[in-house]
Amino acid sequence: MVKQAFLGASEFQRIRCGKERFGEEKRFSSLRGDSGQMRRRGASGSAKGTRAPMDKIAKRSEAYLVIDMLNDFILSGAPLEVPKAREIIPKLKEKIVEMRNKKIPIIYICDNHRKNDPEFKIWPAHCVKGTKGAEIVEELKPEKDDYVVTKTTYSGFFKTKLEYLLKRLKVKKLMVSGILTNICVLYTVSDAVLRGYEVEVVKDCVTSLTEEEHNFALQQMEKVLKTKII
Ligand SMILES: [Zn+2]
Repeated sequence: MVKQAFLGASEFQRIRCGKERFGEEKRFSSLRGDSGQMRRRGASGSAKGTRAPMDKIAKRSEAYLVIDMLNDFILSGAPLEVPKAREIIPKLKEKIVEMRNKKIPIIYICDNHRKNDPEFKIWPAHCVKGTKGAEIVEELKPEKDDYVVTKTTYSGFFKTKLEYLLKRLKVKKLMVSGILTNICVLYTVSDAVLRGYEVEVVKDCVTSLTEEEHNFALQQMEKVLKTKII
């Protein structure tokens, strides 16, 4: 079982997702101090190493991204509630199971803000580190082999360890799901395309506040970024 994280122990404890504790963490001292954090969930207990066996990672070329399926966006009455997000949960759940069965790595990209984050000048406070609102919704909780990467703005690549993780997993193609189609999905997809990744957006597993915004973003991704909408 591989377990890794790139943050200090106290920080690591604070960004636990859900009620369970994650396994031991390793600090990668070679990485610069980006604000984003990444760790792979592991069964509680022992860490057996820092690297996945080569036969396990060598053939991997795809990864499945689940963006911002967090309580503060999804629960009824949440500060940045996206009501339509609740509608995509069953499809997303199915897709996650399908990916797990295919042994495709699942990477949750999660908004995770400081209390006085500058983003709160644009949006109401949401997904503050250590709060229930910053946790992945109950229905889609990650499992032990999934990865979680935290972010502090729209793109999953900006000051996060996502790119490092994708390189490490030898990923060339990303399948993207989550919310909102016109914000975090769009900007993450854009950054992925600019970095040379092949990207597919899973149409039934992304949504937005309005149909117009959703459709506009899909169109941008398809026509401008040449992303496949599947
Ligand atoms: Zn945010």
